[in-house]
Amino acid sequence: MADEFDDLPKPAPKEIDEQRSMELRFLQEDAILRAKPNENERCQSCLYYLNPDEEISYCWHPKLRILVGGEWWCQWWEKIPEE
Ligand code: SF4
Repeated sequence: MADEFDDLPKPAPKEIDEQRSMELRFLQEDAILRAKPNENERCQSCLYYLNPDEEISYCWHPKLRILVGGEWWCQWWEKIPEE
């Protein structure tokens, strides 16, 4: 059984993956996006974090529009206005 799978090609990133990786890297650098909070500021408490009940959610900031982690942070963090 193992020999049968040895003949299969090993998964490898394609050109599109290199391209996406570069695009997202530029985006990250532009936003100064970090995978950790900046003192009390974190994505989960940011205006642009779509669903604060989830540990990973969509960031709708117009310059990002990507999935981010609740503990992450970027320079565009914005306080949620009190109602
Ligand atoms: S704007 Fe920045 S801090 Fe706010 S949710 Fe998006 S990535 Fe996180």
